[in-house]
Amino acid sequence: MERRAQFSIWYYIAVVGLLLTIQSAFFSGSGAREVSYSEFLEHVTAKRVEAVVIAPDKIHGLLKPPGAQGHEAGDQSESLDPPSKSTPWRLPWGTEAKAERERHFTVVQMDYPGLIADLRAGEVEFRGRIENNFLRNLLLNWVIPFALLFAVWGFIMKRMGRGPSALNLGRSKAVLHEVDPENKTCFKDVAGVDEAIEEVREVVDFLTAPARFAALGAKLPRGVLLVGPPGTGKTLLAKAVAGEARVPFFRMSGSDFVEMFVGVGASRVRDLFAQAKKVAPCIVFIDELDAIGRSRAAGAGVMSNTEQESTLNQLLVEMDGFDPSAGVILLAATNRPEVLDKALLRPGRFDRQVLVDRPSREGRHAILKIHAAKLKLAEDVDLAEMAAQTPGFVGADLANLCNEAALFASRRHAEAVTKKDFQDAIERVIGGAEKKGKMLNPEDRRRVAYHEAGHAVVGYFTPGADPVQKISIVPRGQAALGYTLQAPAEDQYLLSEQALLGRARVLLGGRAAEQLCLGDISTGAADDLEKVNRLLRQVITVYGMSDALKNLSLVEQQGPNFLGQASPLAPHSPRLAEAVEAEHRRMLDEAYAYSTELLTKHRSELEALAEELLREEKVDREDLGRLLGPRVASSAA
Ligand code: ADP
Ligand code: MG
Ligand code: ZN
Repeated sequence: MERRAQFSIWYYIAVVGLLLTIQSAFFSGSGAREVSYSEFLEHVTAKRVEAVVIAPDKIHGLLKPPGAQGHEAGDQSESLDPPSKSTPWRLPWGTEAKAERERHFTVVQMDYPGLIADLRAGEVEFRGRIENNFLRNLLLNWVIPFALLFAVWGFIMKRMGRGPSALNLGRSKAVLHEVDPENKTCFKDVAGVDEAIEEVREVVDFLTAPARFAALGAKLPRGVLLVGPPGTGKTLLAKAVAGEARVPFFRMSGSDFVEMFVGVGASRVRDLFAQAKKVAPCIVFIDELDAIGRSRAAGAGVMSNTEQESTLNQLLVEMDGFDPSAGVILLAATNRPEVLDKALLRPGRFDRQVLVDRPSREGRHAILKIHAAKLKLAEDVDLAEMAAQTPGFVGADLANLCNEAALFASRRHAEAVTKKDFQDAIERVIGGAEKKGKMLNPEDRRRVAYHEAGHAVVGYFTPGADPVQKISIVPRGQAALGYTLQAPAEDQYLLSEQALLGRARVLLGGRAAEQLCLGDISTGAADDLEKVNRLLRQVITVYGMSDALKNLSLVEQQGPNFLGQASPLAPHSPRLAEAVEAEHRRMLDEAYAYSTELLTKHRSELEALAEELLREEKVDREDLGRLLGPRVASSAA
């Protein structure tokens, strides 16, 4: 902005200067030596003047060439053939004409009636001239004042942060980051989100070595959407992509598209893509995509909705319009993927989503290392310990934590930041975060740990259940406070009765563990309950696997619903409905009893795993084996 404003000022100055030069070169003898009237009269009487042109306010004169001086200039042939081509009012150009220029002079007009007589006596050729001042007047009275006015106005408007005219409103405000050495952000400035980095690294490779990918016939991905809770480093990661890729990078925030004038958003989108295509291969980054990408179905009836809709439509049009081989990659970030319009997520648009999740303990340690590197730390500060004390913190919280700790230290006028400063800072940051409902309190964390450990232990010892891959109590997204990841050993097309029952038992293991170890149950199991109940209904009415209603299928009567998926939830006679209900109840209770019994038997392993989770936040398959011992089938139930 700043640079452009200055550019236009210089531009105006240059134009005005040029006009003045042209004007002076053609329409005035200025530049010629000015002599006094008395000196001029002396020259005339001494017959040193060859010719004069008399204008209303000036006399332009031409002296005789130096060699001719002293000669009697009365010679006829000489006056027929003038010794020089100079005329008194036009200065010769160029350096070789320097001597010629010496002969020119001007005199300011005076009211001297005897001048003509003197000129005659001095044998000077003279003539009159009406000076043509039209262009000069135009320039002085019109062009210059207006040019100045425009220049000053434009400068002020730009200072105010707006374009100089309404014409500029539709122009995109995208900041173009050329391959500049200024952008030093790179992947090693982003910690704790290694998986996300791996995914976007591919984009960087694509852009830096397109030939390699083209040779293999691989196509550039079109759009990559960074999804994750606020403060996890999405914007930072996008900057790092630009820093690493060394290609032009356009950055714009979703809210920049939304202006008070109708149609501005759409034309900004158009302009952004037009600019991007010109410098491809390049990256276009739209931060806070939800500001424009909100579902068109939602929030109808709001006035600005049509504007947002037209902006979104334009974005979709542009995304479909560009040729992937042109090398424009669209990067976007949002912390509310659920509000995005489904059309944005279709193949060919943001077909790749990258989760930028809350960091685990190790991740937090790595982030703390980055941000604490700028601080002067006391001996007693152990960043690993700080990471352990800050479950639920995201990158922005940790950056804030380091800053707060430094502030506490500076308030004490201390030499270095101590452990105590960090402790105080943690309390402060947690206080702030808890107010916003972002952080789990210690009791809740404990409950989540036991709940997840319950799932894992049941999964580990139940025959037929899918093996547990990973357990985590790092909160994910809005809903899940923790999770247990199970994956079947190989692809399965058929599920045995035992596998289905195992699944039901594992799903109930969370609540059973809460009941067993904490003596109380919580709402945290709601999602598990929904799944297990749906599963048991299917076991009874679709797969015909219950004892009382063996081989029964209720799919036919119901008919496929509109998604082509069988819905087994409405049997067709009240008596049958009661029987299904009873079987459902019985199987649910049996599964719960099984899980409780199994957990009671393996209580010590359950507690060990829960404590490990509280410490480490994440436990993977190998550690599970270490903590739980050999995987023997339980004799329970
Ligand atoms: P988001 O865009 O996801 O809301 P930002 O990228 O704006 O988060 O993060 C805000 C600040 O927090 C960053 O500038 C950085 O200082 C810090 N930060 C966030 N995540 C990380 C991370 N993974 N590694 C290092 N610093 C981080
Ligand atoms: Mg951001
Ligand atoms: Zn659960």
